[in-house]
Amino acid sequence: MSEPSKPDPRPPGEFELIRWIRERTSATPSTVLGIGDDAAVLRLSQGSDLVTTTDMLMDGRHFVLDQDGPRAVGFKAMAVNISDIAAMAARPVAAVAAVVLPRKSAAEVVRGLHAGMAEVAAQYGVALVGGDTNAWDGPLVVCVTLLGESVGRGVVTRSGAKAGDIIFVTGPLGGSLLGRHLRPTPRVAEALALNEAFALHALIDISDGLAADLGHILEESGGLGALLEEAAIPVHSDAVAMTHQDGRPPIDHALNDGEDFELCVVIGPEDASRLEANPIPSVNLIKIGQVTSTPGLRLRDASGQTRVVEPAGFDHLR
Ligand code: ADP
Ligand code: MG
Repeated sequence: MSEPSKPDPRPPGEFELIRWIRERTSATPSTVLGIGDDAAVLRLSQGSDLVTTTDMLMDGRHFVLDQDGPRAVGFKAMAVNISDIAAMAARPVAAVAAVVLPRKSAAEVVRGLHAGMAEVAAQYGVALVGGDTNAWDGPLVVCVTLLGESVGRGVVTRSGAKAGDIIFVTGPLGGSLLGRHLRPTPRVAEALALNEAFALHALIDISDGLAADLGHILEESGGLGALLEEAAIPVHSDAVAMTHQDGRPPIDHALNDGEDFELCVVIGPEDASRLEANPIPSVNLIKIGQVTSTPGLRLRDASGQTRVVEPAGFDHLR
């Protein structure tokens, strides 16, 4: 006869936590084999390319666990990776999540993380198909890898912009540090709808700030420049709120804060005119300027004066 089972006073171990995650994870039509084996198996649509990306988030750098809580961290970790797939105009399919948990609160943190990840994943039809679970006496580190597939005319890179192209963004910019950076809205539907309607020239999601990320497009496209209309740049109310705290003009926040996760879209002039005449109802697009053969980023104010903008976005190594 065995003893009646007593509740285990020890915190749950690695395998119990993985079982807990597995029980809360559902497959999608692309999932051939999900959590529980040595590797996951996915079936992509016929003829599509695999599109993959990874982003790592560290406590104290990309979030503050004690303030934000694990659920917000899980949400952000999943959402920023989906945003990178959107920035290729690809469809997100599945994710794997590798975590290093702070040992003293491992179970609570993993549960919160998972809840946040699952919330975004479900919203975008992404299956969580695997990961790795570790713990140590250091801070929380979360690394999500996203797997996606190309659709229709294929992915849109950073490198196809041409002088004369028109530059758009999908929403207001700046001040994300006030909280928005934790709950980005990956612009997947917008990217897919635009890619279906037009041969987009270049696409990027704004993580380092409009100036830096548009700068990446211009550099990758062969050393081009851009002329932006200051009055056209959509400034988020959070950017204005930041100005009250630090005195820097709202436009500086809109250009440089980053973590907006809106898209910056570059379209040929004829397609851009067609798009403006016939907007896609579900896609918010704000025209902010034009690509120029003169290198560098310039901003023209309402009086017609132009000034050069040096990107001041975030660089982890500086
Ligand atoms: P292995 O030793 O073969 O790497 P693990 O014990 O690390 O296997 O993981 C067992 C299963 O659980 C695998 O399918 C793995 O992908 C999955 N897994 C582990 N940690 C996580 C996690 N944090 N989130 C989702 N799946 C996970
Ligand atoms: Mg493993």
